[in-house]
Amino acid sequence: MLILDGKIASLHVKEKLKAQTDSLVKSGLRAPHLAAIIVGNNGASETYVASKIKNCEEVGFASTLIRFSEDVSENDLLSKIKELNNDDAIDGILVQLPLPKHITEQKVIETIDPAKDVDGFHPVNAGKLVLGLPSFLPATPYGIMLMLEYFNIPAKGKHAVVIGRSNIVGRPMSILLSSNSKFGNATVTLCHSHTPNLKEICLQADILVAALGRPGFVTADMVKDGAVVIDVGITRVEDSTAKKGFRIKGDVQYNEVALKASAITPVPGGVGLMTIAGLLTNTMQAYQNRIKP
Ligand code: NAP
Repeated sequence: MLILDGKIASLHVKEKLKAQTDSLVKSGLRAPHLAAIIVGNNGASETYVASKIKNCEEVGFASTLIRFSEDVSENDLLSKIKELNNDDAIDGILVQLPLPKHITEQKVIETIDPAKDVDGFHPVNAGKLVLGLPSFLPATPYGIMLMLEYFNIPAKGKHAVVIGRSNIVGRPMSILLSSNSKFGNATVTLCHSHTPNLKEICLQADILVAALGRPGFVTADMVKDGAVVIDVGITRVEDSTAKKGFRIKGDVQYNEVALKASAITPVPGGVGLMTIAGLLTNTMQAYQNRIKP
């Protein structure tokens, strides 16, 4: 059984980006620059954004972190995004989700210039993805494709089952796996909460992607022998024995499923790290598109 170690695969992506950045800077150009916006002080969001900024530093990118308090008005947030859209020194913009209830997330997503939308959530990028046109791919599914590429696991001709149809993970994942591309060309079944016989469908999966946000949902009896299992889930589960008072749990019962799978991602240390690799790759792409129009 192969552990699909996100540390190793993301390091590979980051080393390439670092070499690219070093050579840009050496030739007198500026480094790519990511602006991240965080609203409020949600613990998980703080962790994710801190990690994104740290990873920018590791590959030599510039980064700017912009903080707003929980009660920021939607208008103020949108104005900041417009300012960043017009700032020539900024290549990529991300707004960490979720946002407080009084802010309409879709409005925020649609205000980001599609050319700087390194999370790949803008409808223009989502539409291009569906049409198979070059676009910014949502960072998590993109990271998973980079992982399949790194471990040389082609999806071609295989049956991939994706559990979860969110706009940021499940649905784009299903499109990428079914796309006519080097690591795509799978036959894909996309499942959700109204899917009957989920267990029977999962048992047919050569590649099973769990992206539903229910800790330990995928058990060994749902997995075919030799399947490749990708666990996207990240849920903080209270645990008084843990230092922080919680543990991060994936959507897959790792210990029992690992005995049947041919390859599996750990949580933590799997898809989360690849999401950052996807985001950084998009930021480099945004930079390159902008300096070479
Ligand atoms: P989401 O928007 O809540 O979507 C969950 C999806 O799962 C929905 O489509 C839902 O179906 C489906 N679902 C829920 N219960 C189900 C069940 N019992 N059977 C079948 N389908 C079910 O979640 P998300 O944003 O995609 O995130 C999913 C998980 O991935 C979360 O744990 C999140 O924290 C994690 N995540 C991880 C990363 C990373 O970098 N590793 C990045 C993003 C998200 P309906 O559409 O029918 O409601």
